[in-house]
Amino acid sequence: MKAETPIPSHEDPAAWHDETTVLHGDASLATDSSVVPPIHYSATFRADSAEQFAEMANTPRSPSFYTRYGNPVHKRVEAVLAELEETETALLMASGMGAISTTLLALVSAGDHVIAQQRHYMSTSRMFEEVLPRFGVSYTVVDQTDTQALADAIRPNTRLIMVETPVNPTLSLTDLAAVARLAKPRGIITVADNTFASPLNQKPHTLGIDIVVHSATKYLGGHHDITAGAVCCSNEHAAKIWDMHTTLGAVLSPMDAWLLLRGMRTLPLRVERINANALALAQWLESQPQIQAVFYPGLASHPQHALAKKQMKGYGAVIAFSVKGDFDATSRFVSALKLATHAVSLGGVETLAVHTAAMWAGTMTPAQMIAAGIEPNFVRMSVGIEHIDDLKADLGQALAVADVARAT
Ligand SMILES: *Cc1c(COP(=O)(O)O)cnc(C)c1O
Repeated sequence: MKAETPIPSHEDPAAWHDETTVLHGDASLATDSSVVPPIHYSATFRADSAEQFAEMANTPRSPSFYTRYGNPVHKRVEAVLAELEETETALLMASGMGAISTTLLALVSAGDHVIAQQRHYMSTSRMFEEVLPRFGVSYTVVDQTDTQALADAIRPNTRLIMVETPVNPTLSLTDLAAVARLAKPRGIITVADNTFASPLNQKPHTLGIDIVVHSATKYLGGHHDITAGAVCCSNEHAAKIWDMHTTLGAVLSPMDAWLLLRGMRTLPLRVERINANALALAQWLESQPQIQAVFYPGLASHPQHALAKKQMKGYGAVIAFSVKGDFDATSRFVSALKLATHAVSLGGVETLAVHTAAMWAGTMTPAQMIAAGIEPNFVRMSVGIEHIDDLKADLGQALAVADVARAT
């Protein structure tokens, strides 16, 4: 007799697949019989007795005392996020940077040393290079593709290692399991920014990373409408981060928490389509004569494709590519796109494209850009859920209109 696939328990959210979790992972926290959760648009919550007030005021992370401390909608989103990242718990914040800055400030102190990547989301790099040193925290940045460089950077007072994978500008990867193997025996806390992958494509905690942070503005919200952030971690870390959170106050509004939950209901469907579209588009771009190079972890040509296959289930929305042309030709190309919207951000339903060098022209010199790996002919694209043929047609017409090859 053929062995049957075991059917997971219908009552155990931990046994569910992600597709089920996003719809039902918060059901046990329902406060009434409505199918869709109500928005608890209240800054403060009533106690029915002196005893109850004392209990509400002294319960950490209470869902209904004062919204900076917690809110019933936040609790529901946090329950789903913790299931998706397979961590004990999660905390919701007002933005990805709210989540990252609160986490770092909660866990490091004067005298500590931290290790960060050479490439990070720009504001995250600023935390290490400009903010933390003002409070007596030293840092080392390492090439994220080089595990030995990371090992060499560890000092006796290294308290935390921050990683981010994949990362701009060329979608390079960090070996999450290798980082965890170095950090764990030394008691060093590891934090991974999982924004570019999404929990559907990569689960850093299952590879040994302690804390997973997200800009929920991206795939989790998924519709380019809200700014939100999340920290997924153990109850022990969450206690410290929540304490700092109530002090720093990066609180997500109940409306935006509700919109985030609504967005997350379709996360697996969106990510599935985004993965398929982005891979198809990356492969198509590689075959176009006007394209110089394509950077996408899902391509066999990506220098870390083997690692991508090992730690990722899908490769996400973001493709970087360079056109055969100069700054002006690249600018003409991006301006000629009709379907792809000329805007920053990623992981939403619409395809977005930016001319990377134009984005940094105000803050970096051309030499600084080259040092940061940002070539003048780079385009960064976040692929959405449109029909793939329409996306190819749009890119094709823009390459023809811009006549990028003429400039070479
Ligand atoms: C967008 C982003 C952030 C910052 O998130 P916000 O929600 O804009 O504050 C952090 N890390 C990565 C990788 C991002 O893409």
